[in-house]
Amino acid sequence: MLLRNIKVPSQQVSFLDAVRIGLGEQQGLFFPDQWPSLDVDALLAMPFVERSAAILGALIGDEIPQAELLAMVSQAFAFGAPVAKVTEQIGCLELFHGPTLAFKDFGGRFMAQALLASQRRSGIAKTTIVTATSGDTGAAVAHAFFRQPGVKVVILFPKGKISPLQEKLFTTLGENIQTLAVDGDFDQCQALVKEVFNDRDLVAKLQINSANSINISRLFAQICYYFEAVAQLTPEQRAELVVAVPSGNFGNLTAGLIAKALGLPIKRMIAATNANDTVPRYWRSGVWQVNPTVATLSNAMDVSAPNNWPRVEDLLAQGVIAREALSTQVVDEEDTQLSMRQLAQLGYLSEPHAAVAYKALKRELSPTEYGLFLGTAHPAKFKEQVENILGNPIALPPALAAVAGEASLAADLPADFVELRKYLLALE
Ligand SMILES: *Cc1c(COP(=O)(O)O)cnc(C)c1O
Repeated sequence: MLLRNIKVPSQQVSFLDAVRIGLGEQQGLFFPDQWPSLDVDALLAMPFVERSAAILGALIGDEIPQAELLAMVSQAFAFGAPVAKVTEQIGCLELFHGPTLAFKDFGGRFMAQALLASQRRSGIAKTTIVTATSGDTGAAVAHAFFRQPGVKVVILFPKGKISPLQEKLFTTLGENIQTLAVDGDFDQCQALVKEVFNDRDLVAKLQINSANSINISRLFAQICYYFEAVAQLTPEQRAELVVAVPSGNFGNLTAGLIAKALGLPIKRMIAATNANDTVPRYWRSGVWQVNPTVATLSNAMDVSAPNNWPRVEDLLAQGVIAREALSTQVVDEEDTQLSMRQLAQLGYLSEPHAAVAYKALKRELSPTEYGLFLGTAHPAKFKEQVENILGNPIALPPALAAVAGEASLAADLPADFVELRKYLLALE
């Protein structure tokens, strides 16, 4: 299947080309404009990995043989996505059982497999992935490529500006994973990565590839866990299902809307944001007005210019999603904390991102509906905040406990492209 550049529709590329290129001309996003028809009931009866390979095969077409795709998916989705019961009427789709304890493991690990498949096609033996992270994405990408032959990964992060536990998840790996603590903020890290990609000599010499958040392979991967969620529900729950998604860049929401467009029984979706409410304001007023980003408890959602939104617009324009099927909610800091305490009283330990979605669901769910909210990160990933809000200590899961005591292997780097260039060339 060909993917079209939303901004420059004449640019049409295959899935693996879109994976390799990342962004299209004029910074346009790649997106399908046709959708396969699926036998949803048959799919829901299948096991997670097999079902996911079938869905991805239908989306991608014959560019990747089904056996190869199945192998890629079983590498990527090596952990589950269980629905935890919170009340009779509400469940949490837990997406944090991967190696870095956040839903970004699903997209990051499948993106790694797709980049490797694209590399196999081109006959290139070596590649260097250069990416900047403000926390979760870097860790997911690092783990996804750890010990992959022929791949070096260089991750830039703002020194001292991400949580110590988050940092340990990717700076302690070593081997083919190089980490750079940049003396600057996340925007400076991103600017440095941009300069790398503008340096054609450097890109050609090191076969540099990006692994950024708008890569279409991530979205496709995320569609699969919405099917996995519905597969776990009873027929009554499936009949009137409402899904609330804690949203920052709106990738997760886009994937859910695609799942709905593919025929998954989702009655409607709620996009829940924190105070960074560009989309909810736009949804009400029709005016796209980006305000300065504000820091909140749900910091992975502190995004004021969500880069996946044009894809949502495209689904509406294509007519595969009705405007009434989507609503938006803004949840402030007080309601976030209150919701975490309410969830704790119900016997469910949660964290700020999921709590935003839970609150949005509580506001909108009618008595005949069944609601799911997405648990995007493990509560222990936000240990200090969760303990402060709930007033109880929480235990670290084994993956975090194991790295907490290890030394960071990150090298220091000034926010200076000349220094970064020297560093990259010395990696060869
Ligand atoms: C990235 C992230 C989000 C936001 O997801 P988007 O797809 O960018 O909307 C929500 N919660 C957590 C924990 C995240 O890491």
